[in-house]
Amino acid sequence: MATCEVIVIANQKGGVGKTTTAFNLGAALAKEVKKVLLVDADPQGDLTTYMGCSNLNNIPVTLATLMNRAINDEEVNSKKAIIRYNEKLDLLPTNLELSSLEINLVTAMCGEYVLRNIIAELKDNYDYVLIDSMPSLGLLTINTLACADKVIIPVQSEFFAAKGMSNLMSHILKVKRSINPNINVGGILLTMVDGRTNLAKEINSEIKEKYGTMFKLFDSQIPRAIKAAESTRTGESILEYDKNSKISKSYMNFAKEVIGCDREEKTRNTDVWIR
Ligand code: ATP
Ligand code: MG
Repeated sequence: MATCEVIVIANQKGGVGKTTTAFNLGAALAKEVKKVLLVDADPQGDLTTYMGCSNLNNIPVTLATLMNRAINDEEVNSKKAIIRYNEKLDLLPTNLELSSLEINLVTAMCGEYVLRNIIAELKDNYDYVLIDSMPSLGLLTINTLACADKVIIPVQSEFFAAKGMSNLMSHILKVKRSINPNINVGGILLTMVDGRTNLAKEINSEIKEKYGTMFKLFDSQIPRAIKAAESTRTGESILEYDKNSKISKSYMNFAKEVIGCDREEKTRNTDVWIR
């Protein structure tokens, strides 16, 4: 297996399409014959639910179980938590237990690196590990950033889309300086784009103007589509639910761009960003 890339899908703003993007990017990369592990690092457990686990309380081993064991210095055995979604796609599920664990991270020895040690045990089996993070910049999110080679930032195409972005970028920069020097911003992805309006173009220009010199703005954009919500109720990715839809094709193109980025320079004007 070639080297694994760990990508965190992050934005502290809620409801921008992080989980939908994590699942469908994972499904699209799997269609590109990549072996993918999806990690649900949001205590809401939405990714676990979107992938068809309806009763979160009945999952015997979750990410919370693993992180608790790691904090208590017990044997972790990360592979026991993995649920096989299909031949190319695995899930490390979670549930609400993860939220009560966050407080234990504060006092844990090297609390920022608990997730990183768990992922390190698993990553050799995959081409990509995609981590869905929660809408906050707390210790759990820091744990996800501590593992990451790359952060992909979904931004909902709406007025004030860029609000809060500078906060997120400076947070990632602090992590880069103090916890994980390998981390880079992989790019910004516009989601829920309504192609019938000029608003999308305006927002695209605004983000390009503010962040385009430092970070990649993906050419692919994810359209607003009711199918995104419908598919979550069936436990299917949009690619399975309606593979010929516009949104399906957008996620496939996005996956190709993500694979292509590996071949491009890994950092984009990182020096400018860091200064
Ligand atoms: P949270 O911050 O709560 O974790 P999130 O950023 O993970 O939210 P999602 O759960 O992916 O966001 O999406 C929020 C809602 O928007 C969901 O109901 C989802 O079905 C819907 N949604 C996501 N992407 C699209 C889209 N392209 N078109 C229409 N609806 C979408
Ligand atoms: Mg989510």
